[in-house]
Amino acid sequence: MDKTIFQSVRFLPGVGPKRMEPLHDLGIDTIYDLLTHFPFRYEDLQVRDVSTIMDQEKVTLAGIIVTEPVVHYYGFKKNRISCRMAIGEQVIQVSFFNQPYLKNKLIQHQECIIFGKWDAKRSTLMGMKIISTKEDMEETSNFEAVYRTNKSIRQSTLLKLIQTALPLYKENIPNPLPSSIQKKRQLLSHPEAVEGMHFPKDERHSKQSRQQLVYQELFCYQLKLQSLKKKRHHSQKGQSILYENAALKVFIQTLPFTLTEGQKKVVNEICYDLRAPYEMSRLLQGDVGSGKTVVATIAMVATALTGKQACLMVPTELLADQHYETICALTKETEIKVGKLTGTTTLKERRQLLEQLEKGELQLLVGTHALFQEDVIYHDLAFIVIDEQHRFGVKQRVQLAQKGMGVNVLQMTATPIPRTLAITTFGEMDTSILKEAPKGRQPIKTFWVKEQELEKVYDYIEKQVQSGRQAYVISPLIEESENLDVQNATEIYEMISKRFENRLSVGLLHGRLKSDEKESVMNAFQKNEVQVLVSTTVIEVGVDVPNATVMVILDADRFGLAQLHQLRGRVGRGEHASTCILIASPKTEQGKQRMQIMCESTDGFYLSQKDLELRGSGDVFGLRQSGIPEFKVADIVQDYDILEQAREDAITFVIEEEDSVTYKEIQEFIEQTSRETEEVLNG
Ligand code: ADP
Ligand code: MG
Repeated sequence: MDKTIFQSVRFLPGVGPKRMEPLHDLGIDTIYDLLTHFPFRYEDLQVRDVSTIMDQEKVTLAGIIVTEPVVHYYGFKKNRISCRMAIGEQVIQVSFFNQPYLKNKLIQHQECIIFGKWDAKRSTLMGMKIISTKEDMEETSNFEAVYRTNKSIRQSTLLKLIQTALPLYKENIPNPLPSSIQKKRQLLSHPEAVEGMHFPKDERHSKQSRQQLVYQELFCYQLKLQSLKKKRHHSQKGQSILYENAALKVFIQTLPFTLTEGQKKVVNEICYDLRAPYEMSRLLQGDVGSGKTVVATIAMVATALTGKQACLMVPTELLADQHYETICALTKETEIKVGKLTGTTTLKERRQLLEQLEKGELQLLVGTHALFQEDVIYHDLAFIVIDEQHRFGVKQRVQLAQKGMGVNVLQMTATPIPRTLAITTFGEMDTSILKEAPKGRQPIKTFWVKEQELEKVYDYIEKQVQSGRQAYVISPLIEESENLDVQNATEIYEMISKRFENRLSVGLLHGRLKSDEKESVMNAFQKNEVQVLVSTTVIEVGVDVPNATVMVILDADRFGLAQLHQLRGRVGRGEHASTCILIASPKTEQGKQRMQIMCESTDGFYLSQKDLELRGSGDVFGLRQSGIPEFKVADIVQDYDILEQAREDAITFVIEEEDSVTYKEIQEFIEQTSRETEEVLNG
């Protein structure tokens, strides 16, 4: 590959040492960086008819200057040129601020084309620049690129640099996509597209250029993911967990229920990975209540049957307690020893636990991030399950995996990840999806009511409790401060306690309680000694109390759809019909839309897709920390179709062309151009 283009920008005429730093701040180090510093929008320079323009619109107007321009000085370095311009029958005012040198270009009786902002009230064009003459106009395109700049580099400087670089280096711009793909997808060449992004001839040209860049960006990224995946599948570096199938079947038969078809399929997928000589890296997505815990337990038991160790990492103490109990109950008929390690495990217990762990006397360990602390040494760790994986950073997940050689990793999430995010963020992993809920589940009815009806809602809770059920009341989310969150929950707790005094028992749960306090509240709720649980979002993940059938969420419009869905998933877990009541008076149209969507659908995948569309990818379930790659041009929501094509092509290409010259070339190009994405992938 010709590397001329990857030289430093300082080789470019007009770039002195002083320019280097501000350019670097814009992410521009090489000539290629400069040429791919694309405009984020275009100014439409086409001359417009005055009668069609709106107040404050940016437009180009052409006319005859009819008065001698005058410069008014009114303060230090402040001045304004003004003159009048005739456009047909109409005469408008033209003003330029702080550009006195433009006076020479506004020549009385001559035609002039000016780009600026239209002030309708004053019939004035606030001039931004003069586009000399009509002939000039015809030569250049009607669009002008607008670039992201910073304090030290002006728009015009950047434009000039790009104008200098393009003719000099156009020949050196690589064209990394395989020609077969370029042809199949009818794409411009990369050099053509780069030019077209800066200087589009027309709208179509600009669109085609963008298309090429989006495709190339997504293809390169997918190619990287797919080749990582292929490499992993072909390596022998993972631990094979060769459990005895019959023994595992016996265990599955002791479960208190039969597995759903979906669960069986996922168990097979996971167990196939466990046996294989490569490292498992699998993502299990399953809506709340779809029964992931059992699936994970089966795979952990398979591991334990061979004498190797498995652990399950969860984000909260509450969940650790709950999963520990579940797993203990499910494995009570077996020889397998289960332990629990969290931040509040006493020193004595901890010492004992670590000893058993190191000696291999303990096979299954459940816990929080305490599981990967330095002094936790495993005898033979072979399998890790990470529940609610989006709650952990990439680093933490990697740290845990380093506790053993060739460890198999299963990540689970109850937040259905829209496909567009899944295939970018988790594209190098294998994925399993649990869709159907276990049989006998009652669907959850969702209602959206205004605050004024809160009393009726409390009456409803009381009625439900009288018939033996339980309820959650979620206090409003206050993102900025946990203190306020807690205060809020406490006030609501007091108010509700008073209202139900002597009739119902009310409990309070929030993040500031000590862990034994949390445990005792949860225990009381589990045992139905507490009937109404007021809580912050700490109960969002995992909590499982099948007798709870009412979920009331206050100020529901403050939550994201994915989060509301998680909260709603706390009910509908048993045999009784459940209700979710959203209390909200949203002010925006989007807010209302979100409440309606919640009432219409209980399909987590649909909701998270909607959430993505309504709020953009940055916001969806804090996935940012799990490493959504940042693309220069592509937008994975908007460019979804291209993403699918690029992925499809990358998969085929990895299979068919791995040994070809083109493949090596494109990989070289990827390495050369994707420093940031590299970091994301390597944690
Ligand atoms: P998730 O972790 O996916 O939200 P859980 O594993 O907590 O879901 O399961 C939710 C509830 O469903 C639990 O009470 C569990 O015991 C029950 N459950 C799981 N699988 C089945 C099944 N196949 N049949 C009946 N109940 C099941
Ligand atoms: Mg779970």
